Amino acid sequence: MRIILLGPPGAGKGTQAKIISERFGIPQISTGDILRKAIQEQTDLGRRAKAFMDNGQLVPDDLVTGIVHDRLAEPDCSRGYILDGFPRTLAQAEALTESLKGQRGGIDFVIDIRADLSRLVKRLTGRRLCKNCQQMYHEEFNPTKMKGVCDKCGGELYQREDDTEETIVRRFDVYESQARALESFYASSGKYRPVNGDLPVDQVTREVFAILNH
Ligand code: ADP
Ligand code: ADP
Ligand code: ZN
Repeated sequence: MRIILLGPPGAGKGTQAKIISERFGIPQISTGDILRKAIQEQTDLGRRAKAFMDNGQLVPDDLVTGIVHDRLAEPDCSRGYILDGFPRTLAQAEALTESLKGQRGGIDFVIDIRADLSRLVKRLTGRRLCKNCQQMYHEEFNPTKMKGVCDKCGGELYQREDDTEETIVRRFDVYESQARALESFYASSGKYRPVNGDLPVDQVTREVFAILNH
């Protein structure tokens, strides 16, 4: 099963992607995670992406489409995958369609996690991640049992540098400038499914599974 997750920053793409990944045994491909790792490892990609990410702007399409194209060619993607945070522009969506042409079948579902932006600021400023396994938590909505320590692996939690109010506002602007074009691109494919991302995590998961198991 090949799945795309769309939605604004904080909608719950990463959270739902991890749950789907475990349930269906397919990898989560998060361009944000790949880029953050590249920055941490100070690779050429990381050096080129950092300023854009720090400012809440999109990393140029050619850099990102290249990463995804290579990642999808890896053997663990043969049974499917979940794209989390990609595509984010019409150009990326078109590039993805192009790179899937050589392979059997295309995307099965495009799940758009819709959410009220005004309620997402709190989700993003309270977001905490595990340094070790990247599991997401939230200070208030999904706290760890022990403060600052990952429930899953005992790793240390951190806050993303771009989860500040100033950068969040810029990321919302970027999202809004692209969202409609992406929606209409996929709406015409018949694979587009909106879900209500304002609901609690388990209710969003229920909506998503109802679509995937259909
Ligand atoms: P995205 O990948 O779309 O930016 P995340 O999955 O990282 O979003 O979620 C952002 C923050 O909001 C995290 O701290 C996460 O724990 C929390 N969160 C995710 N989904 C929900 C939800 N449905 N209700 C409340 N909090 C949520
Ligand atoms: P969120 O879901 O909370 O917005 P992500 O981890 O998906 O965060 O993305 C963080 C940042 O990484 C973005 O603000 C952008 O700079 C960069 N990025 C991630 N995915 C893409 C993409 N598909 N195209 C361009 N830039 C991207
Ligand atoms: Zn962990």
